[in-house]
Amino acid sequence: MVKYVFVTGGVLSSVGKGIVTSSIGKMLQARGVKITAIKVDPYVNVDAGTMNPYMHGEVYVTEDGGETDLDLGWYERFLDTNLTMGNNVTTGMVYREVIEKERRGDYLGHCVQIVPHVTDEIKLRIRAVAEKSDTDVVLTECGGTVGDIEGLPFLEAIRQMRLEHGYENTLYVHVALVPILDVTNEMKTKPLQHSVNELRRIGIQPDIILARSPKMIDHEARRKIALFGTIPENAVFCSYNVKSIYEVPLILDEQGMGAFIQTRLKVNVEKPDFAGWRQFVSALANPKHRIKIILVGKYAGLADSYVSMSEAFKHAGANLQTEVELDYAGAERFEKKPQALKELEQFDGVFVPYGFGSRGAEGKIRVIQFVRENDIPFLGICYGFQLAVIEFARNICGLEKADTAENDPASPQLVIDFMPEQKAISMMGATMRLGAHKIIITRGSLAHSLYGTEEIYERHRHRYEVNPEYRHVLEKSGLMFSGRSVDGRRMEILELPKQSFFFASQFHGEFQSRPRKPDPEYYGFVQACLRRKLH
Ligand code: GLN
Repeated sequence: MVKYVFVTGGVLSSVGKGIVTSSIGKMLQARGVKITAIKVDPYVNVDAGTMNPYMHGEVYVTEDGGETDLDLGWYERFLDTNLTMGNNVTTGMVYREVIEKERRGDYLGHCVQIVPHVTDEIKLRIRAVAEKSDTDVVLTECGGTVGDIEGLPFLEAIRQMRLEHGYENTLYVHVALVPILDVTNEMKTKPLQHSVNELRRIGIQPDIILARSPKMIDHEARRKIALFGTIPENAVFCSYNVKSIYEVPLILDEQGMGAFIQTRLKVNVEKPDFAGWRQFVSALANPKHRIKIILVGKYAGLADSYVSMSEAFKHAGANLQTEVELDYAGAERFEKKPQALKELEQFDGVFVPYGFGSRGAEGKIRVIQFVRENDIPFLGICYGFQLAVIEFARNICGLEKADTAENDPASPQLVIDFMPEQKAISMMGATMRLGAHKIIITRGSLAHSLYGTEEIYERHRHRYEVNPEYRHVLEKSGLMFSGRSVDGRRMEILELPKQSFFFASQFHGEFQSRPRKPDPEYYGFVQACLRRKLH
């Protein structure tokens, strides 16, 4: 019998529900429990793919090509597992399906309603994940905050699941903020109490309340939370500020949360084993070296836009006993103020991430030219890869008008062009080249030494690609395409063998990076930055 754990949030969004959900998963997994996680998102978008990263953070791409909420990235990193697009359920997805069923006549004769039709569709999707994955426990995190209008059908669906699966097989965890007033230095539990009341109004009595607070909650706060939340004091836990979020499962387990859930759900388990995780956390906390990398991007003002990337640097760094300090710079700065390029010399490496459109693109191209001419370690991902090709075409191959069809479709030298299959597409949602595809690596290349194999699968999200007509011109001048699609048509990795480290990929290595399995391109880059720093 599969068990279900539901995580709701109160008081504010961004209280770290995603990390708490991942940490619950980690605590159970450390006890030998098989686990999977779902994020339900109350927005009406069918998926996260059409949302601006500046507002919603990064779009996380699953192996099967889902454009999902970034919390799936946390689940994958914490649980070291590959999830699917089915692990992210949105209002848009649910309504689309219900409306299609109605048009097909599946509900013929009935008035189609939120309860039961929409709620049934939500439950169906949660259970479908349980059926498809080999799992003991399904974690479901409800996006948004209790009390939001759009979240109601989801809360109603999870409320019904207790009736259908029984008390022993369902558990509700409510995560809410407990602020500390700076004037009186007092912990305030009232907003949390209100959010629990709001949850109860919907019919859900939490089994566990997790206070999110800057510091460990004091006895008085715990007593009040338990009393007004109608739960025993030993069902109150606290997620307080820690240096690294990877410590959260450890601090919650120390408080007894893992043991509490295990007893409450009656899962047969082993003694918890956090050895590997602890090793990683301790490597993160005790670096021997420190390097500075600059990320030059379009969404530099919101760190969540690049969260998988910044985590990939942490994973690579921890495995090299190196703390990676990542600075963010808006690319437009280098267009307006070319002398700013000089500042790049202070960094051990320069990173140009994914991106879309023309804003800042020329600035990134200048940055890439500067790092190439000054032999500063460089890693480019997706748009960073495409812009590195443009830079090389313009400045080395003499193709002065080289550009991407994304920014200048009239350019006579489209070194980056629409993928042929993209030309006829007019819809924007889920139409890019998405998910994992096979790549063949050239023997003897830097890529070969980093990956240690000639065949890899990596995740993608793009509409444009290197125009294969320019491949030979670029290669003749020294650019090596050391990774290509199986048919050889699609360029996937580039490197400049004469540089100390100049590497870029059309795919996104960060989506497969895990705490104890750093991604090879990030690892190679951090290693090169460290080499430069030490010599
Ligand atoms: N804008 C580019 C494309 O669509 C790159 C996309 C990306 O960086 N993810 O091909």
